Order: sequence, then structure tokens, then C-alpha cells
Amino acid sequence: EASPEPRSGRSAALRARMEERLLGARFRYLNQQLYTGTSRDAARLFRADPAAFHLYHRGFERQVRRWPERPVQRIVRYLRRRPASLVVADFGCGDCTLAASVRNQVHCFDLVPLSPRVTVCDMAKVPLAAESVDVAVFCLALMGTNLQEILGEANRVLKLGGTLMVAEVASRFEDTRAFLKAMTQLGFRTVSKDLSSSYFYLLEFAKTGPARPGPAPGLRLRPCLYKRR
Ligand code: SAH
Repeated sequence: EASPEPRSGRSAALRARMEERLLGARFRYLNQQLYTGTSRDAARLFRADPAAFHLYHRGFERQVRRWPERPVQRIVRYLRRRPASLVVADFGCGDCTLAASVRNQVHCFDLVPLSPRVTVCDMAKVPLAAESVDVAVFCLALMGTNLQEILGEANRVLKLGGTLMVAEVASRFEDTRAFLKAMTQLGFRTVSKDLSSSYFYLLEFAKTGPARPGPAPGLRLRPCLYKRR
């Protein structure tokens, strides 16, 4: 071995690259599971394997960092324009950026606590009284296939006239009009929609009344699957 240093340098780099690849593959696999199962499946998955959750979050952070703007920042700006007295529920809060960025009381819900502020639960069943919050937020968090149940839970905890904010990956919407129509059945009127970003849509709804039961076929979002890079 005439030059052990460059060699070991190379193998360390190779190992690092392999590790990256493995993490990437695991992230994509977890991500796919979250988008193709119910919210209960997600809760079960992460309860059984909290390490998977941390890995998922690292991958998520890496994805979102590539975007020109983080959707949660848009929601922060929206809340700052409104009274700080409004009570907020953040469904799928992740690292609680929202709660940390506004003066409002924010109830933070996620499957695993990335922050001590988090209440651990499945977002389809949050420990809040009916009609107790002014603003419900889903920021890149409508992951489960039981969308109707999840949005029904947001309806339950929102006061009449309360606000539902949804930020979702643009490519997930198959038929935005059908989606918005289905939302009326769930007791939500569209207040504004910002479809201008090619990365994510920002939708604002107001609660008009309780969710009406029955099928809501337009309530569909494609899974958000990431490609291998
Ligand atoms: N809203 C944050 C995080 C988005 S990532 C932000 O914009 O930065 C989506 C989050 O939803 C993840 O933290 C994930 O754990 C959470 N999530 C997914 N399914 C959930 C469920 N069934 N119940 C609660 N949280 C869930």
C-alpha cells in the first residue's frame, strides 16, 4: 500500500454514498406506506418503530429544503395577519415550526414527538372537545387514505365558521374541482385557493356545518411518491 490515505478516503466516501442510498430507499418506502395506508396503519407503523419516524423526518426535511418556500411559512404568515387569540390545531405538526412561530395557542398532533409540544395521537382521533378550535391546519399532512375520516375529525373540533387550512403537494390533486366539491359535503366552503405554486396548493375553507355522511368520491389525493435521485 503506497498510498493508504487516498484509498481509505475513497472507501469512506463510498460507504457514505451507500448509506445515503439506503436512507433514501428507506425514506421512500416509509413515505409510500404513509400515503397508501390509513392513518391508523401509520400510527401502528411508527409506534412499532419510532426510529423509522426519525428517518422519515430526515428524508422529509431534505425534500422540502429543495422547495423555494416551505408551505408552513405561508401558514405562519396567514396566522400572523389574524388575531393571536384564535386557537389552532396543527394536524401532523412535525417539528412544531408552526407553534414555535406564532403567538396563538396551538395544539400540536403527530405520531411521534419531535418536540415536547406534541400530543401523540392519530390525527383521525384527536383529544380535543367538539367545536373547540378556530383554525385547523393540515400542512403536507393529509397522508392517510381515510381522508374523509381525518377531515371529518377537523370538522368536529372546529367551531362553526372556523377556518381549515390545507397545504398539499400540487401533483397530488387529480381533480381539484371534484375535491373542492367533496369538501362542501364535509361541511367546508372554499374561501380561497392559491394554486400558483407548482410545488403546493394552499386552500382555505370555512366550516359551514357538520360533515354529512355518505360517500364523497371526489375526495381523492394521489400518493406523493418521491423518485430515486
Ligand atoms: N406539518 C409539518 C410536517 C409535515 S410532514 C410541516 O409542514 O413541516 C407530515 C407529518 O404528518 C409527519 O410529521 C407525520 O408524522 C404526520 N402524520 C402522518 N400521519 C399521521 C397521523 N395518522 N396522525 C398524526 N400525524 C400524522
